[in-house]
Amino acid sequence: MTLPSLFDYRDVVGKNVVEELTILASYVGNRSIKMVNSTAVGGGVAEMLHRVVPLLNELGIQTTWEVIKGEPDFFDITKSFHNALQGKQEHFSKETLDTYLHYNELNNKDMTFDEDLIVIHDPQPAALIHWNPKRKNKWVWRCHIDLSHPNQQLWRFLQTYIEQYDAAIFSSPLFSPELAIPQYQFYPTIDPLADKNKELDTDYIDQVLEKYGIPRDKPLVTQISRYDPWKDPVGVIQAYQLARKYVDCRLLLVGDKAADDPEAEKILQTVKETAGNDPDIHIIYLTKSIASEINAFQRASDVVLQKSLREGFALTVSEALWKRRPVIGSAVGGIPAQIIHGYTGVLVHSVEGASLQIRGLLNQPDFAAKLGENGHQRVKDEFLITQNLKRYLLLLLAVERPDESSILLE
Ligand code: UDP
Repeated sequence: MTLPSLFDYRDVVGKNVVEELTILASYVGNRSIKMVNSTAVGGGVAEMLHRVVPLLNELGIQTTWEVIKGEPDFFDITKSFHNALQGKQEHFSKETLDTYLHYNELNNKDMTFDEDLIVIHDPQPAALIHWNPKRKNKWVWRCHIDLSHPNQQLWRFLQTYIEQYDAAIFSSPLFSPELAIPQYQFYPTIDPLADKNKELDTDYIDQVLEKYGIPRDKPLVTQISRYDPWKDPVGVIQAYQLARKYVDCRLLLVGDKAADDPEAEKILQTVKETAGNDPDIHIIYLTKSIASEINAFQRASDVVLQKSLREGFALTVSEALWKRRPVIGSAVGGIPAQIIHGYTGVLVHSVEGASLQIRGLLNQPDFAAKLGENGHQRVKDEFLITQNLKRYLLLLLAVERPDESSILLE
């Protein structure tokens, strides 16, 4: 299958947007970027890099992507980092922090960093910079997680590495900590032409639901997310159980396994226990997702939930809004940037709130459809991949001018 080229986006975002990108790319000129993260599959970062990297190359920016390696003990530690940075109380021993550094050092030995710009995604590879003190290029730390309430011990430890970077990027102003380096804000974005988001035939959608044994007899309420405590799959089931007393519906939970997330099986067990033997709850755990199937699940849903307790951004929200689905999202992290309450979706703060909105949206299909329509427009305006390409191009210029508040292109 051939991937869409930049040219193909003109029909979705407009000719001007694509032209602007090519003009900007010509200002940026012959530059190179290396992206570094910790998983090639699963989760939003991998999802975005799979498309941003080829499109930046098409714009003439030589962009590569490397995934750091580690044994399970490293990924256990980095998952506990992720949890603590999102607010979980935990104390980290010197030995744990040393193990984290040891794996960063090992990875550094196998990697080269000759590109003009190195973009290190999230905490897992954040310490790589420490072994590159004589660098001549620019290094930027791109944080995708909810840093609104970080564990202070861990943040202080990581901060010493983050402040060695030339800049840091966060997904929301709410996450922006005090740092001695410049900060930028990038919204994550979705690719409207990717298999995850492109239009689908209704026959295919039916086939996918049949494949997974989900009857189309009742309205479908869905959450698609890794089985992670912050995505609150248990809260989703509780909200459904409350709503079910008043409206007949099915609940679909879909989650896949991210290579750098060792927690899924444990959470899945609790999810199954909470669901009990309700035949209208469908719990799907995928070793590897097929993008077009996720697309089909989203399009088949009458309501999409994202009941996260903390959230970097939630690409799943943009994906569902793009498909004109009414979305119920928790008012955390990047979700309120996507959902304007009562206009492009609804925001909730509790299991009870989510349950009330499930009932409300299933009982008011016209209002639900209007939210979906407005949501589609919001994603089109703010959260499509062309925006991300523009920000990376501007970043290449901005990091070389740290003292300038605006860049004149002439
Ligand atoms: N996703 C998927 N299959 C799943 C669960 C999630 O393909 O079973 C995708 C989802 O469609 C989205 C990404 O993984 O593109 C998750 O990104 P998000 O920002 O919502 O959350 P993260 O996992 O990065 O915290």
